[in-house]
Amino acid sequence: MSVSIVSRAQWGAKPWAGTPNYVSLAQRTEFFIHYDGADHITRTGNSVPQAIERGHLGQGWAGIGYSFVVDQEGVAYEGRGWTLQGAHCPDHNISGIGVQIAIGGDQEPSAKALATARALYDEACQKTGRTLAMKGHKDGFATACPGVRLYAWVKAGMPAGNYEDPNGGGSKPPVNWDGTSFPGAGAFALGRSHPAVTVLGQRLVAHGYGRFYKEGPGPRFSEADRSATEAFQKAQGWTGSDADGYPGAETWKRLLAAPKPTTPSSIVALNPAVKPGAKHAQVKELQQLLIAAGYGPIPGAYSTYYGPETQKAVARFHNKNPQYRAAGTSYDPAIGQRGFIELQKEAGRK
Ligand SMILES: [Zn+2]
Repeated sequence: MSVSIVSRAQWGAKPWAGTPNYVSLAQRTEFFIHYDGADHITRTGNSVPQAIERGHLGQGWAGIGYSFVVDQEGVAYEGRGWTLQGAHCPDHNISGIGVQIAIGGDQEPSAKALATARALYDEACQKTGRTLAMKGHKDGFATACPGVRLYAWVKAGMPAGNYEDPNGGGSKPPVNWDGTSFPGAGAFALGRSHPAVTVLGQRLVAHGYGRFYKEGPGPRFSEADRSATEAFQKAQGWTGSDADGYPGAETWKRLLAAPKPTTPSSIVALNPAVKPGAKHAQVKELQQLLIAAGYGPIPGAYSTYYGPETQKAVARFHNKNPQYRAAGTSYDPAIGQRGFIELQKEAGRK
């Protein structure tokens, strides 16, 4: 099946400034992937090829230099097309079909964009009757293009299938991330997965924003992650775009720092009404203490409900402190007076 392509006439291309040479399909042996440059791109639609055209005309070229452009919605736009010589990689403009995926820097390519680019590759192979070499711009010219993520994708063989699997199946580009430093804004796009999203959620829970999670936290950036991040950002006194729920470097730094200690700081008694299955205001305090002492996560915290997740966290406390377990049990979801005092000590109270 051929890829649906928005024609030059449809996206409002200007006439060619000059006459690009004709290249037969028989001359094509390579398929190059490009990105837009250092900056993230948020636009989609006709303005994507239009902006590139303005730039390339400004460089004195005949018009858009890529064979095709693919935006983050996965829409393909005609540039030089299948049979006009491109202007995208010196010494490879006849042999190489060049496709720009309209992202920049460390931005994560959408699954749709990758699927369309792969479909263009497949169609190019079909039209030429050969397996075209998969290349990134930097394979033909000294440049950062197509960026780390797209280059990894090219080297992985341009996988298209199953890319949206939220559980990490399929063939994602390998993620280079050290596990603690700010992974870049591109790691946090709704619906997309990145290992840093799990860490983000865990830190939000540790800081007391677990109430936003019905499940997880997990690797896929969800509305729960965004809402919890927004609440955390507002609690910093930030407003507007500083509190839009998308973590930046400063949000990340503050989240990875230790949470402020819970109050009160002195040991208190457990209300006898705080029992598994019950609702009580002090359950929230119990949850805070459990998380502060390292027995989290507690999905759904903080709440007044002593539910199954809170019970599991209490059982984890008892596993570490079996002397506080009810006699003769191996799973004790009730904290008990003596256990509650020990828990407060572990959480830093005196
Ligand atoms: Zn390039």
